[in-house]
Amino acid sequence: MTDHTDTPTAPLARDEVTADSPFTLPGFFAALADGDLFAAVCEDCGKRLIPPRPACYACGGRNLHAEPQPNTGTVVSYTEVRTPPSALADRAPYTVAVVELDSGARLTGRVTVPYADAAIDMSVRLVARPPDADEREMALSYEAEWPIHEFEPV
Ligand SMILES: [Zn+2]
Repeated sequence: MTDHTDTPTAPLARDEVTADSPFTLPGFFAALADGDLFAAVCEDCGKRLIPPRPACYACGGRNLHAEPQPNTGTVVSYTEVRTPPSALADRAPYTVAVVELDSGARLTGRVTVPYADAAIDMSVRLVARPPDADEREMALSYEAEWPIHEFEPV
């Protein structure tokens, strides 16, 4: 397991953006597979970016650092997907939510309960698991082993 806690602060020099840095997608997903969800936190405006980016898409700032995020939060918005990508047809219908983590960071993901059982302000926990065969089928080749995150009710 890689220790990501001493990750360098952006702006990053080109040779600091290594494959295991959470500022890259491979590094972000490697940490997620280990159970660590990272955001980049903007020092200038406080925005939390998931996955991390070396520049802030809220204010354009370049002064960010990677920070582990809590895996708990609440549902801000949710919907039901009835017509998914064809590879996921057997999963439909399924629920997708925007979740605000306890840190204030927001991200989208599938929820493990039917739409009728979801609710605004529902407490959820983010879990990461290896992708199933249908999820691998719709992934690009370099994404095939990246973990899948879901939200389950707490
Ligand atoms: Zn910012």
